[in-house]
Amino acid sequence: MEDIYNYTLEELTKFCQAADYPRFLAQQVFNWIYRRRLEDFILMTNVSKDARKFLEDNFFFPRLKSLKKEESSDGTVKFLFGLSDGAAIESVYIPERERFTLCLSTQVGCKYACKFCASGRDGFQRNLAASEIINQYLSVSKDLNSKVTNIVFMGIGEPLDNLPNLIKAIQIFLEPKGLGFGKNKICVSTSGIIPGIREFAAASLGVKLSVSLHAAEDGTRTKIMPVNKKYPLKELIAVVKEFSLGQKRSVMFEYALIKGFNDSLRDAAALGKLIKGFDAKVNLINCNSSFEGFEPSPDEAIVEFTQELKKRGIFYFLRKSRGGDINAACGQLKAKFEKPNQGFRST
Ligand code: SF4
Repeated sequence: MEDIYNYTLEELTKFCQAADYPRFLAQQVFNWIYRRRLEDFILMTNVSKDARKFLEDNFFFPRLKSLKKEESSDGTVKFLFGLSDGAAIESVYIPERERFTLCLSTQVGCKYACKFCASGRDGFQRNLAASEIINQYLSVSKDLNSKVTNIVFMGIGEPLDNLPNLIKAIQIFLEPKGLGFGKNKICVSTSGIIPGIREFAAASLGVKLSVSLHAAEDGTRTKIMPVNKKYPLKELIAVVKEFSLGQKRSVMFEYALIKGFNDSLRDAAALGKLIKGFDAKVNLINCNSSFEGFEPSPDEAIVEFTQELKKRGIFYFLRKSRGGDINAACGQLKAKFEKPNQGFRST
């Protein structure tokens, strides 16, 4: 038996055609499962009885087990889902005016061990299947009975380390006959895996890329993101620039402000210098809790930092940290569920 959410429309069409069913059968199925959210082939009334039996004999609808759900006073909702092998992952729903963003996990655990992230601490367990990525979206929208306008791959795991399944999941999200998300509504966030960015660009999905920077100098960045040793800033920025030019897309750099660590005027100047000269924006966010000595940046430092960016012509957003009362950053709910500890941010 096959997991139906692991199939793109093209793959399902091929599967059905190989059994002598017409190509429109797959389109009917996509319409039922992704638009009308049906989880039973027998109830697909415009599908012939014979085809329904064929689908039932070959496919199943997987389930995610809801282990925990926490709701913040700002509307952010964090879900902890159990997988069929007993592993757990998180998804976070973030409503903000007309934008309803869902942050998805792509792996169980993570091998990159960023100092500020709870997900990296227990190491990497496995990649998620495309179905497990899609099912986070289906389960959250069903539970909340609410729309999701934007998808960000910024939950547990490094998305570009799980590229084949990530690409397949994005194709399913983009499929006009199914979920029908626009390319502008999907963003993949990476800790800066250079070969992954190249491969991701080659897949030409047209979706957005964001890079977790958090420091503009190698020494500082390596202290909190060990991945920087392997993929240092000069090479990383060069490949991001290539991505931006090739895909004709602006790239977002994530920068969590940490008191006394990366929030000085000098840091802002280094950041301005590093990303000058191509279509890039900076997403500044103040870290939302203290973790191993990291503290949120004071208001005065943030004002000076942003003034310096402005002076250098760098476009930035200053975002509020969301869901602070429910541990809404990557890996925190899972960590809390297993043992009480904290982190503040993911890629
Ligand atoms: S921030 Fe992202 S890349 Fe870093 S450890 Fe956490 S999940 Fe992995």
